[in-house]
Amino acid sequence: MANKAIKDIPYKIYLSENEIPSSWYNLRADMKTKPAPLLNPGTLKPMTAEELEGVFCKELVKQELDNDTRFVEIPKEIRDFYKMYRPSPVVRAYCLEEALGTPAHIYYKFEGNNTSGSHKLNSAIAQAYYAKKQGLKGVTTETGAGQWGTALSMSCAYLGLDLKVYMVKISYEQKPGRREVMRTYGAEVTPSPSDTTEAGRRILAAFPGTNGSLGCAISEAVEYAVTHEGYRYVLGSVLNQVLLHQSVIGLEAKAALDKYGVKPDIIIGCAGGGSNLGGLIAPFMGEKLRGEADYRIIAVEPASCPSFTRGKYAYDFCDTGYVCPLAKMYTLGSQFMPSPNHAGGLRFHGMSSILSQLYDDGYMEATSVEQTRVFEAAEQFARTEGILPAPESSHAIRVAIDEALKCKETGEAKDILFGLTGTGYFDLSAYKSFNDGTMTDSIPTDADIAASLAKLPKVE
Ligand SMILES: *Cc1c(COP(=O)(O)O)cnc(C)c1O
Repeated sequence: MANKAIKDIPYKIYLSENEIPSSWYNLRADMKTKPAPLLNPGTLKPMTAEELEGVFCKELVKQELDNDTRFVEIPKEIRDFYKMYRPSPVVRAYCLEEALGTPAHIYYKFEGNNTSGSHKLNSAIAQAYYAKKQGLKGVTTETGAGQWGTALSMSCAYLGLDLKVYMVKISYEQKPGRREVMRTYGAEVTPSPSDTTEAGRRILAAFPGTNGSLGCAISEAVEYAVTHEGYRYVLGSVLNQVLLHQSVIGLEAKAALDKYGVKPDIIIGCAGGGSNLGGLIAPFMGEKLRGEADYRIIAVEPASCPSFTRGKYAYDFCDTGYVCPLAKMYTLGSQFMPSPNHAGGLRFHGMSSILSQLYDDGYMEATSVEQTRVFEAAEQFARTEGILPAPESSHAIRVAIDEALKCKETGEAKDILFGLTGTGYFDLSAYKSFNDGTMTDSIPTDADIAASLAKLPKVE
């Protein structure tokens, strides 16, 4: 395929096993303006460690609140697990470059090479490990599409921890494949709303036959955790601790590129709750914050759920059910629902507080893309590079291709790095609607967004 005469940089840059980072990097340590603290929704005061420990594992609460420790050692047990699927490769997209006819050099960090099919495993194993170390019986969580639930079920199986997953009912029914993977790893998967919790029973009584929602599943998972001895709740994105764990992506990517003297001009990642992007950019952003280097960093979100580009920087609930603490973030309002036509993932209404602060301070850019253009990029990527990308990841592919095409016009040989967060084997109904030509784009109106933002909690 690619016939560039000299390939001084290999198609895949692999680090060796002993080059897996021994510490995670805490970006907050280098931020002049720290991310705003989580607030107790009742008192509107910052959540204390004690309050958070009722819901989350102790060590994870410590990581959540720690804005100062620059490097956090990765426990040996977690590094051993990482060895099963890490280091993940940085791939030079020679074939895609050639198809585009661009002078740009495109690199992607591929996180889909594990059974869960995404980067979520990097944090799932860490969270399960700290729960186990605390002597807990198990953890609870919610899952929508299922990547997080799958990653967590793999981690809990490995450590011998019980796992209760509340899966949004419509996904439970429409994605039986995901459900069975989780059950194979030993998780108990309950369609939400269910009659196993007060919150679920209340919603079932008010809305019989409802399809469920992520917000409702969160309420159920939190309720189960706080009402059962030896259980805590875990979350797969958005939180500071999750970005900390995901820094392994960026640390590895930077180490691999450093070997070949490559310094990316542009770094691109898709943004749902912000965990993969926060992890990929961490060491690069650290250099930028310390004034040692400069990088253009671009967050890509769906046009149907544009938190950064059209949301407001304000305190908001992380869930539709109003049970979680308030986070200051770019948000569309906790009651915002992307159109049901939206198939591309990344449907969270808010964004990581760390990335929100960095964006507000002008350290990174954001852009939004329509899903038909996202799937066009996914198709081109699959046909040239061979990997069937997750729809979420394809948002980053879209913008990487667009930037590479700009280089074609200007003749600049820029180095572009993007995060390929996962594979799309469980997203074939979305691919079907693209292949059938029935996929549509849905962009919320200003009035839709204003109506949702009008319901933000009042916090001074
Ligand atoms: C969950 C997920 C995302 C989005 O989550 P972030 O926290 O924004 O990284 C992106 N890609 C894949 C494959 C995912 O599973």
